Amino acid sequence: MSNTPDNRLQIHQFSALSDNYCYLVHDPDSKLTGVVDTPEVAPVETALAETGWTLNYILNTHHHHDHTGGNLELKEKTGCKIVGSMAEADRTPGIDIMLGDGDKFELGSKMATVYATPGHTSGHIVYHFAEDNLAFTGDTLFSMGCGRLFEGTAEQMWDSLQKLLAWPDDTLVYCAHEYTQSNAEFALTVEPDNNQLIERASQVAELRQKDQATIPSTIGLERATNPFLRPMSPNLQATLGMSGAPLVDVFAETRLRKDNF
Ligand code: ZN
Ligand code: FE
Repeated sequence: MSNTPDNRLQIHQFSALSDNYCYLVHDPDSKLTGVVDTPEVAPVETALAETGWTLNYILNTHHHHDHTGGNLELKEKTGCKIVGSMAEADRTPGIDIMLGDGDKFELGSKMATVYATPGHTSGHIVYHFAEDNLAFTGDTLFSMGCGRLFEGTAEQMWDSLQKLLAWPDDTLVYCAHEYTQSNAEFALTVEPDNNQLIERASQVAELRQKDQATIPSTIGLERATNPFLRPMSPNLQATLGMSGAPLVDVFAETRLRKDNF
């Protein structure tokens, strides 16, 4: 079914815990609804009450507790099915449907393609709804940042991020945390001459001052401002003293500096 303004995938964004974002995704054709990750139960229930939608699926990006903590209670209360990474099935509470790289997940008439993005965790996955031009990137790609390398190498994470760079620039990026302002502050230290970054950083500071969300971002904006997607930038390379170095090495050094920022 093709998209008209009326039957596009609907996204209801809300906060949970201290800085997590959670998303209800709703297909108006089938009335099916999923929630992307479950930091905690109460905000999900509030979001369901506000929208009047019924929960059918939990879509987990990775096993960390701030993404799966509400899984079992929500499953028990709603009878929903839990979708997650095959590679993290043993660490994903209540998992029913296990997905790997290239697998499809259908939410009624809407289809997501799953990408395996190891790095932050070994089995992290992201969900790309190509027809609706949006993606849920969990703790792999943040606005102006990327996840810490808890279970993977810099090489794996750089490979993972490059998969996402293949998406169109206007793809909406819904990530799992509001880390944008501190990410921007770090980004400015490694790429101080990036004018789009300077402009985005001041927009973000303004939004956060008003306690407004900086998410969603877009792939195009990230391509232009996210230092973890820009190891090819001469300004970034020069700041790190790595002009002409292999991109994966520049990425690794950028990640290391962020860890110590
Ligand atoms: Zn995580
Ligand atoms: Fe997280």
